[in-house]
Amino acid sequence: MLNELEKVQSEAAVSISQAFTEKELSDTRVRILGKKGSLTQLLKRLGTLPETDRREIGKRANQVKEDLEKKIAVALLQIQERERTEALEREKIDVTLPGRRIPVGNRHPLTQILDEIIDIFSRLGFEVVEGPEVELDYYNFEALNIPKGHPAREMQATFFFSEDVVLRTHTSPVQVRTMEKKRPPVRVICPGAVYRCDSDPTHSPMFHQVEGLLVDKGITFADLKGVLTIFVHQMFGKETRLRFRPSFFPFTEPSAEIDIECFICGGKGCGVCSNTGWLEILGSGMVDPAVYQFVNYNPEEVTGFAFGMGIERIAMLKFGINDIRPFFTNDLRFLKQF
Ligand SMILES: [Zn+2]
Repeated sequence: MLNELEKVQSEAAVSISQAFTEKELSDTRVRILGKKGSLTQLLKRLGTLPETDRREIGKRANQVKEDLEKKIAVALLQIQERERTEALEREKIDVTLPGRRIPVGNRHPLTQILDEIIDIFSRLGFEVVEGPEVELDYYNFEALNIPKGHPAREMQATFFFSEDVVLRTHTSPVQVRTMEKKRPPVRVICPGAVYRCDSDPTHSPMFHQVEGLLVDKGITFADLKGVLTIFVHQMFGKETRLRFRPSFFPFTEPSAEIDIECFICGGKGCGVCSNTGWLEILGSGMVDPAVYQFVNYNPEEVTGFAFGMGIERIAMLKFGINDIRPFFTNDLRFLKQF
């Protein structure tokens, strides 16, 4: 039995010295001193020895146990010391290394253009309002003087959920929703996403518009021209020439589209302006009195004008981009240029 004791002691000493981490050491401890540990098993058999041997071997066994416990305690200190040193080494900071740059994001080009548009109209006293993208046919068409079956509906290829529910094809329904809730004077712009079944290099099934509406007593076409001229000059520069070209929209009468002189060719004609020298940027007009009937405004008392523009179109013109798709593909190489 004494021999076995020696053997357990020397084997235990070896495995203690080989333990490299605290976990390994604690596993080793369990293998020696745990319930089923090698030394514990041996000690259990002491009771089976004759009285005379028991005392001597028992004493020796206790010495071995104390010795191993001491060895484990020392090994633990050594492991902790080594791990501390290694951690310090690992976390050492080289203050001479150049700093790591934090990548800085920037606003999406469409957000930049929208913010600029909102900024210009805010200074002119317009307030920003928003409306739902899933819209009732009533607000998207009917209350804008486009009854069911009206040919003007064909101008806007529409996504229908049902006969009465659509993805809004323009931000104009927000005009109606605003006038329902508010008595004149009304002076709002309505930015937001709109949807049409349309997809090619210059059309996206989802794009953004800003709609504007001003209704008050005595508003005339001169006010429309004044406000939109200020907008064009602030957006594209004071020297930009613009023209009002007669057009048709079901909810405005008279209606006009606004063109600016092509800033690529200076009006001489080029590929961007299809050799016309002009670029179309927005639609506008005096609110059709028929629209006021839907919101209980008295057309004898108030008049107003509305306008709408595509944010992508303004951004494409301003940044000189001829494809709408990169705005939505989230390629950082494109987005970082702005
Ligand atoms: Zn041109």
